[in-house]
This record gives sequence, structure tokens and C-alpha cells, in this order.
Amino acid sequence: MSTESDLTTALRAGLADFELTPEDQALVDGHLVHGGEEDQDGPLPVLAIIGRPNVGKSTLVNRILRRREAVVEDVPGVTRDRVAYAAEWSGRRFTIVDTGGWVLDATGIHLRVAEQAEVAVELADAVLFVVDATVGATDDDEAVVRMLRRAGKPVLLVANKVDDERTEADAMTLWNLGLGQPHPVSALHGRGSGDLLDAILEVLPETSAVAEAYPRSGPRRVALIGRPNVGKSSLLNKLAGTDRVVVDAVAGTTRDPVDELIELGGQTWRFVDTAGIRRRVHQSRGADFYASLRTQTALEKAEVAIVLIDVSEPISEQDIRVVQQVIDAGRALVIAYNKWDLLDEERRYYLEKEIERELVQVTWAPRANISARTGRHTDKLVAALETALGSWDQRVPTARLNAFLGEVVAAQPHPVRGGKQPRILFATQAGTRPPRFVIFASGFLEAGYRRFLERKLREQFGFDGTPIEISVRVREKRRR
Ligand code: GDP
Ligand code: GDP
Repeated sequence: MSTESDLTTALRAGLADFELTPEDQALVDGHLVHGGEEDQDGPLPVLAIIGRPNVGKSTLVNRILRRREAVVEDVPGVTRDRVAYAAEWSGRRFTIVDTGGWVLDATGIHLRVAEQAEVAVELADAVLFVVDATVGATDDDEAVVRMLRRAGKPVLLVANKVDDERTEADAMTLWNLGLGQPHPVSALHGRGSGDLLDAILEVLPETSAVAEAYPRSGPRRVALIGRPNVGKSSLLNKLAGTDRVVVDAVAGTTRDPVDELIELGGQTWRFVDTAGIRRRVHQSRGADFYASLRTQTALEKAEVAIVLIDVSEPISEQDIRVVQQVIDAGRALVIAYNKWDLLDEERRYYLEKEIERELVQVTWAPRANISARTGRHTDKLVAALETALGSWDQRVPTARLNAFLGEVVAAQPHPVRGGKQPRILFATQAGTRPPRFVIFASGFLEAGYRRFLERKLREQFGFDGTPIEISVRVREKRRR
């Protein structure tokens, strides 16, 4: 036996003194592996929540997610960044797409509700259509109903704001919409939400028919993303050249997302959702809304994202948001600085400053300075993609991890706070794609110390091009 595994055995044994849950124990024994996609049979079903502003969509999402902190604002149309959430009820998992934050786009254009809802519905397996029962059905609601009929997806009609029995009668008038039985709910107080969730599970398929399932062994999947006009379609055309193979989406589901197989550096890559890149629709109206939703769905299908940034303009809030979406989705990340041909000395100076300031949290992402127009350095993207995916797949053996953390902690222990010093008891990599670490500790680890540990892990094991997750489980010593 090596000394490393002796150490692990000793650490494991030491854990016997601490209160561990059965799940903790399974993790420690290496029986529980959360691996992004590994524990899934297929893509999770997608539920879209649509409805006019202020009917209570966000409140309902929070209710379904059982989140304590409400992100609801009293101002209608406050833009939220994220649109997709992981939900669970009765042991079944699904994805919720919330359109609540998308009433106004960045340029202040008011989106028609039906138009806004259309994309969300197209990308969903089932729909929750929320109406404010205290207001009743409006013309906007009628327009949504017509759109829903055309779409032909299963729909549950939610009569929200039915806070008490008195308002039940209001809910019943919504039978008139012709969508079947209204489900009376109070998103705010929770009334009726359990019944609604049961009804949701009845209409949702086991696995999504919308999000395409990919074989694990197939070509690696790349999403080409970035805000409008950064050069996505130009780069796609440059990379694809003439030997482009267009792959149709699953027949009978969505028409729009189409993948392309492109050969780069002697290997085939699957660029996902390229139709959304090529088809320049909805340019004027709600471009932001569509762009963000497309980014989200492309990320769900992809393993690695190339985020394009236009170097001829200052790095914007929107650029940073796209990068953040990749991290939140747990995908590998490559950043391509495009339009390098337009760069002069002065702009270059400011660009580097902007990168230092705005993108410090992703210094680990491989970078390529490219020009989709001239083809400059586009070949470097292949090495960057390979690096990022290699890190995304990487697994550090438990013995090595603990031996390494032991050294790190010995050299720089957690600061003593209030006379106490939390100890790291044991660590394990619980999953890959992206790498997820679980650290068992005898006390709370401060944010600064967690960042220090992440930095050390990256220095030692690489992980260039992938987000990594570190969760800390504080466990008490058993009383004797
Ligand atoms: P969204 O624009 O559709 O996402 O609506 P919000 O979730 O932001 O809710 C709009 C307003 O309606 C907020 O002030 C909520 O507190 C309120 N609201 C939401 N659900 C209910 C409910 O079930 N009952 C009552 N009385 N108010 C609610
Ligand atoms: P998309 O909206 O991200 O797909 O961006 P496009 O590919 O349509 O590009 C937007 C504009 O930027 C077009 O006018 C392109 O010709 C231009 N463009 C794209 N890449 C480059 C580049 O590398 N250099 C220069 N000078 N222009 C570029």
C-alpha cells in the first residue's frame, strides 16, 4: 500500500468520530458520484412558465423551487439574468424556464406577451399558463391562448392569486378560455401548489422530447455564443468552410435548432443550435430575450462553449453575463477575442485593462485572439477546446486529493476565529463534467479560505477551461 492510500484510510477512519449522514458516508466510500450528465438517462423535461407581467410567474417559480429568499420585485419587468432552473417534486426532476424577467428587453422595447411566450413554448415539453384570477382574462391572454392552440403542447392553466375560498369563483370564470380546468393557486401563500405540481408531473414526459439526447461517445459538442454582432455566424462560416454537414433536429419537435458537424484539427465537432446563429430573425424586437434563451438552450446541449467577445468595442455587461451563463451551466469555457484585425495599439492597451478588470473570475479560461474575417488564429481554438474538455472530464483520485490538501493546509492553516480552528477532515471529488469537490470540515470555512483552496487545486491539478465546484460539509463531532 502506498503512503497516500494509508493516509486516506486513516482519514476515513477518523471520520467515525463525526456525525455523518448516510449520504455523506456513501460519498466518503466513493459510492455516490454526481456527474453532470452521468446520472441521467436523458435530458430532463422542460416546463415553460408564461403569462402577462405581474400575474405572479416569478412568485410561482419560487414556490415550485421552494426557495425561501424571494427574488420577486414589485416593479414589473425587472430583468433577471437566468431563465432556467432545476426543479424537483416527488423525486422527479425537471427544468423550469421562467419568462418572467423578460418583459422589457435591453433597449426598452415592450415585447408582446404572445410573441415572447412563443419561443419559450417552442423549447418546452409542457406549459404553465398563468393568469391573474383577480383580474380575469385579458386580450393579451386570449392572444396567448391562440398561440398555444397552434403549438399543440400540453398546457396547464393556472388561476393565480386565489388566496382564499372567496376568490375560487373568479378562477372558475377562466374555463371560458377553453384550455380546460383552471388550477386555482396562491403562489404567494402556497395554496393549491401541491395539487398543481402533481398535475404538472402528469403532463411532463419522463425525458425531454425537445432537448435532444446525445450519445456520450459522439463528437464533442460545442456552443458558439456571445452577444449579437460579435461574429458568431462569421466564425461558423469560416470554420465550416465548404465541408459542412447540417444535422436536423429530432423530427416532429423543434424546427429551428440544427446542429452542424465540422471537422477541425483532424476531428469532428458538433456545433449545436447553429440555426439560431444563422437565421437572423427578431433582430429588432426583443433581440436580447431571444439571444439569452438561445444561449441557455445551446448551453444545455453543449459540453464546451466558445464565448466570442468583440475586441473593437469595450467589454460590456452583456459579455460578462454570457460568460456567467456558461459557469452557471457548469460547462467548459473558451474565450475567443474576435475582430483582432481591427485592433490598434491604443485599443489593445484598453482591452487588456478591461479583461483584467471585468474577467478576473475566469483567468482559468483558455484564450484565443482570432479574426473570423481573416481566419487569424482560428486553428488555436482546437487546442483550447481540447484543454477545456480535458479539464472538464478530469478526476483526481481521492488519495492524491487528500495528500495534497494535507500539505496545503499544513503550510497555511485556516485562521483561528473565536478561539476555534476548523479542520479539514476529508475531501473527495464527487463528480466530473464539471469537477465537483466535497470537503468535510469540523467547522465553517471562510469564503477567503475556500477561494484559496480553489486556487491551490487549480495550481496543482490544472483545470484550465472548466469551472470547478467546491462544497463544504460541516460535521459535528459525535457526543460520547
Ligand atoms: P411576474 O411578473 O408574473 O413574474 O409576477 P411576480 O411574481 O413578480 O408577482 C407580481 C406581484 O403579484 C407581486 O407583488 C407578488 O407579490 C404578487 N403575487 C404573486 N402571486 C400572488 C398570489 O398568489 N396572491 C397575491 N395576493 N399576490 C401575488
Ligand atoms: P453574430 O451576430 O455574432 O453572428 O455576428 P456576425 O458574424 O453577423 O458579425 C457581425 C459583423 O461583424 C458583420 O458585419 C461581420 O462582417 C463583422 N465581423 C465578424 N467577424 C469579424 C472579424 O473578425 N473582423 C472584422 N473586421 N469584422 C468581423
